[in-house]
Amino acid sequence: MTTIINGVTTAQDIKDEIAEKVKIIKAQGGKTPHLAAILVGDDGASQAYVGGKVKACEFVGFRSTLKTLDADISEQELLEVVDQLNEDPDIDGYIVQLPLPRHISAKTVTERILPEKDVDGFHPVNVGRMVKNLPAYVSATPFGIMQLLDRYQIETEGKHCVVIGRSDIVGTPMAILLSRKSNPGNCTVTICHSRTGNLKELTLQADIVIAALGIPEFLTGDMVKQGAVVIDVGITRVPDETKPRGYALKGDVKYDEVEPKASFITPVPGGVGPMTIASLLHNTLLASQKAIYD
Ligand code: NAD
Repeated sequence: MTTIINGVTTAQDIKDEIAEKVKIIKAQGGKTPHLAAILVGDDGASQAYVGGKVKACEFVGFRSTLKTLDADISEQELLEVVDQLNEDPDIDGYIVQLPLPRHISAKTVTERILPEKDVDGFHPVNVGRMVKNLPAYVSATPFGIMQLLDRYQIETEGKHCVVIGRSDIVGTPMAILLSRKSNPGNCTVTICHSRTGNLKELTLQADIVIAALGIPEFLTGDMVKQGAVVIDVGITRVPDETKPRGYALKGDVKYDEVEPKASFITPVPGGVGPMTIASLLHNTLLASQKAIYD
């Protein structure tokens, strides 16, 4: 039998837990956690993501500040806004919503964020600390997947996990987290990417497959073994006239084929996606409590 992993209810559980902690902090006269977001330009998907983050802050009782900047802002001007947030003692953590316009270097901007306010966990200092198993802000999507594995009590120790995708924000941190000596963790991890030649041969050996490549319905039923745990990170907008918005969201897994073979599977939407915001709130709470850096 297949268990469908429900990211919506798990993310709600995490948000409820955070809201409860915030209530206690406030009752004790502590500081209200404060998350800021910088949004450059008017990309619809980015606006929706940031809107969701602001709404989630309201739900858990955080303060939130949204800085909306024109798409033609210079890199220098954006860095000045980043500096202001770095220096503002009331802001516990902040994010710069990606992607940025082509004329702005995401690398330069990310590296300008103070590591102690980098609640997205993208700064090299946080990535390095994660690699060394030191306290760090962990990138929200991989952290959310770790939460799903944990809360659904999925056995990972000694398992072979195949991660498809090696991006800085999903595939690579995911592979590192699962190979660490921890629970969830202690996996034997194989990372596959666009140059991997024998991908199907590898996924067929996997006890856990994490698909994070951004190609809709890439992982088909003949690529997974019976009983595998399948985590679908992909979210791609595919034109669909039957939907009110004119598109459907597709994951990287061909769900109808893979679901009957899987022991656990995340749907799209409603699987990994909702966990990302919950993870960001978790990191912001840690930041406000100076739990990672003091
Ligand atoms: P990316 O484009 O940065 O990386 C894609 C990776 O897939 C690369 O490492 C590439 O080598 C690999 N790849 C590409 N084609 C491949 C192939 N044919 N075979 C094997 N590997 C291949 O993407 P990303 O930022 O890591 O995001 C991946 C997907 O996850 C996207 O659909 C994205 O929208 C989604 N995503 C979802 C969330 C969420 O909250 N659910 C968060 C981040 C990203």
